Amino acid sequence: MGSFNVAKFGGTSVANFEAMSRCAAIIESNPNTKLVVSSACSGVTNLLVELANGVQDQTHRSEILTKLAEIHNAVLDQLEDSTQAAAEVYTILDTVTSLAEAASIQASRKLTDHLVACGELMSTHLLTQLMRERGIAATRFDIRDVLRTDSNFGKAEPELGSIRQLAEEKLIPLCQESVVITQGFIGSDAEGNTTTLGRGGSDYSAALIAEAVEASGLEIWTDVPGIYTTDPRIAPKASPIPEISFSEASEMANFGAKILHPSTLVPALRHDIPVFVGSSKEPEKGGTWIRHQVESSPLFRALALRCNQTMVTLRSAKMFHAYGFLARVFEILAKHKVSVDLITTSEISVSLTLDQTDTSGGAPQLPEAARIELEELCSVDVEHNLCLVALIGNNMSESKGYAKQVFGTLEDFNLRMICYGASPHNLCFLVHESVSKQAIQKLHTELFEG
Ligand code: ADP
Ligand code: ASP
Ligand code: MG
Repeated sequence: MGSFNVAKFGGTSVANFEAMSRCAAIIESNPNTKLVVSSACSGVTNLLVELANGVQDQTHRSEILTKLAEIHNAVLDQLEDSTQAAAEVYTILDTVTSLAEAASIQASRKLTDHLVACGELMSTHLLTQLMRERGIAATRFDIRDVLRTDSNFGKAEPELGSIRQLAEEKLIPLCQESVVITQGFIGSDAEGNTTTLGRGGSDYSAALIAEAVEASGLEIWTDVPGIYTTDPRIAPKASPIPEISFSEASEMANFGAKILHPSTLVPALRHDIPVFVGSSKEPEKGGTWIRHQVESSPLFRALALRCNQTMVTLRSAKMFHAYGFLARVFEILAKHKVSVDLITTSEISVSLTLDQTDTSGGAPQLPEAARIELEELCSVDVEHNLCLVALIGNNMSESKGYAKQVFGTLEDFNLRMICYGASPHNLCFLVHESVSKQAIQKLHTELFEG
């Protein structure tokens, strides 16, 4: 398939008619761009999540539905011929209305996925019509016909073999005839139920689709001209990184840099597809290339912040010089499907953080049943309102002296759960949410602005 380029546009990139027109210009500028993956219009997924959580107050529910209609009507109003797109969007809005009512009676993860998928289903109707009105042969494709996942609603896992086969059958032939506009974030399970890949999942969708069609490139168009040394909203002096390796960028995404969904680079890395990140508002500014081989590998590359961390500390004197304690702890966690992210240990205690496992965006919870079982073994202490700060770089575990610089800069902060050494690419720790941005700002000034 070789010459295919896949372009993904995030929510702010398709926020309104002007933004969508900028996307269209970017698509037109590269004749190899055959597949376009779009997010929902900015703000739409948040409104849908609110409805999916169950809004009992009917007036409030109507207000949200009105907001949703307004966002899409604003684009429809500027199309030359909105008849067909309007009919499609209104049908989806009717579905949203009835699903929101159902969710107000009884919310469920399955219902949530059905509801939140409607954002992408609507935005792609608008973008397709807009492209056609610019004279481009564009076809809207429902990606649920290709992006097969398991039934883990809210954080579904893709089924790669089926995706590849379905892409070959249904998607690739279509791309030969026209530019295909499809949805990020959503998929379907074997029974045809709508699923989602988790918040921010459109990046991951785009990478999975790029892998399935053996794309030669993947472009992620967003609201910043590339990956920066840290989130520019936190540190205004953050600077764009022209080129970064897959491993460094993966670490950044995993450690919370919102610019990329954590799993995005997995398919790209598997198929060695170069990834470009740029701003659809300012494409002329260039962006970041993520590649296998890069020219420079600095000791410090970037800082990432991930909030809503849950830390669980388990203490037991029985752990001292005993074997099998940690095995038992992890057995209990595995039994209750609790996924562990970071871990540090001392003689009689072990601290761990929990992985995010759903769409909610809130702090992950330790299931009550797991807590009860763990308490038969040791004391269990759960803490919230923590953020994970990660310093990403190269050869960190083999370099001398920099720990002094990092920890010296943060001498006034209470650092928890310092993890260092397992990966040559990162050093990370927890801080209280109230001082997390300050910690990033101080470190950025010291390590990146010198
Ligand atoms: P999209 O809707 O296009 O997917 P996101 O809001 O998910 O966009 O991601 C883009 C945002 O990621 C930026 O506006 C920025 O605030 C944030 N961000 C976090 N870390 C970084 C970083 N290291 N470099 C650039 N942006 C970052
Ligand atoms: N629309 C979804 C979200 O807001 C997916 C995405 O934009 O990546 O999470
Ligand atoms: Mg995103």
